[in-house]
Amino acid sequence: MTPKEETLFALCAPPVDELEEWRWGMYVIDAYKAPLDFPRWRPCPVCNRRPRVWKFDNGRYAKCMCGGKYDGAHISAEPIGDCVRRTGGFAEYKDDELLDNWNDHVAGLTLK
Ligand SMILES: [Zn+2]
Repeated sequence: MTPKEETLFALCAPPVDELEEWRWGMYVIDAYKAPLDFPRWRPCPVCNRRPRVWKFDNGRYAKCMCGGKYDGAHISAEPIGDCVRRTGGFAEYKDDELLDNWNDHVAGLTLK
């Protein structure tokens, strides 16, 4: 993020809500964090939450409060490690792939 975006984020970020954090703890493991660009992530129409996101070398996941903590109810994208192994570099790595997959998922839910 640019410094201007960071300032905007600080102004827009909701205050930490302990009850909400406790609820999240029932649905996602601690590694999931609220994305810094959270306004871009569409809220789930079922639980009314924007997802929390977990990105590491071998996985990229987004999850809301639908489904259980450990039952695989998440949206995923190709991990950066797989992309590098598949293509031999970062050129094809799409940083927004998880965001796009999430927003497509929510759009599908909204149509039902
Ligand atoms: Zn949901």
